[in-house]
Amino acid sequence: MNYYYCSKCHAITKRESKAQKIKSMCDTTGETVFITRIKNADELAVKLRKVFLKNAVELDSFKPKERMFLEMAFEQGAKVVFNSLR
Ligand SMILES: [Zn+2]
Repeated sequence: MNYYYCSKCHAITKRESKAQKIKSMCDTTGETVFITRIKNADELAVKLRKVFLKNAVELDSFKPKERMFLEMAFEQGAKVVFNSLR
């Protein structure tokens, strides 16, 4: 059993597979997508950070120390999400 990440809706689903990528249908958008395997919380944090933190938050408006704190908090959040799925 492995965890897979949907890049369309950012949902995480369990699958009986060991493949790195699986062709699937997104439950939310109904589109055909490739869901990608996630091995651990760090990988999930990287993916989610790329989507949400970079696009939704204008990081330039924060001081470098604040930015560091934000990123740490975000990674911690991703770990909590990942662990709650197990
Ligand atoms: Zn989806």
